[in-house]
Amino acid sequence: MIKVCQCWDDGVLNDIKVAELCRKYNAKATFNLNPGKHNAVSRITTGWQFRDTGYYPGKLAWNEVVSVYEGFEVASHGMSHFSAGVVDDKVFVADAVAARNVIEDLFQRECRGFAWPCGKYNDATVEMMKAAGFAYGRTTQYVEQVLPCSEPMTLHSNCHFMNENFWDIFEKAKPCGVFYFWGHSYEMMDDPALWQAYEDKLKKLNEDPEVEWVNVIDLVTENNSR
Ligand SMILES: [Zn+2]
Repeated sequence: MIKVCQCWDDGVLNDIKVAELCRKYNAKATFNLNPGKHNAVSRITTGWQFRDTGYYPGKLAWNEVVSVYEGFEVASHGMSHFSAGVVDDKVFVADAVAARNVIEDLFQRECRGFAWPCGKYNDATVEMMKAAGFAYGRTTQYVEQVLPCSEPMTLHSNCHFMNENFWDIFEKAKPCGVFYFWGHSYEMMDDPALWQAYEDKLKKLNEDPEVEWVNVIDLVTENNSR
């Protein structure tokens, strides 16, 4: 068996499509949200252009996130998407905790996961985030074996979802028993080929009898048992 998990950052409109595809192929997923970056009742469809593609990622309205992410895990990505080290450490941690509190109130469940915005962290924020009760913090670094992980507040993944060696990395992760990939759904823009490539991955994973989908938070439990 190999436990497979995925997570998606920033709460963008394309997450709707990711969630639909995951439901279609019985895949689990964790979505890392910035509650402070959404409009309350209307979508944000302009503002930040993805690279120089002319594509604007767009944010979900905050009043639709519960329905969009129904059946999936959600985690804190900070209220404001601060990078650790760019603001005061106390401000950073308070912002991450505030996002967690807003998410827990809205979704009515525990939210102990975190994804470091821009993958940035430092020793002080790692310790402070642990003390604040977070169970893990996903980085943007890649490792061949995700577990065991000596410090779950710096939980690395296997690869980005568009990695051209995705299936080789999957094979190499098998001895570890865990395969973890992540990305931003806006990276697929409105490009049918990119969406098809993602769907093909979900389909293949769904058809693999060795694959068991898990949530990212489950890796912490798995890590503790190793
Ligand atoms: Zn982000």
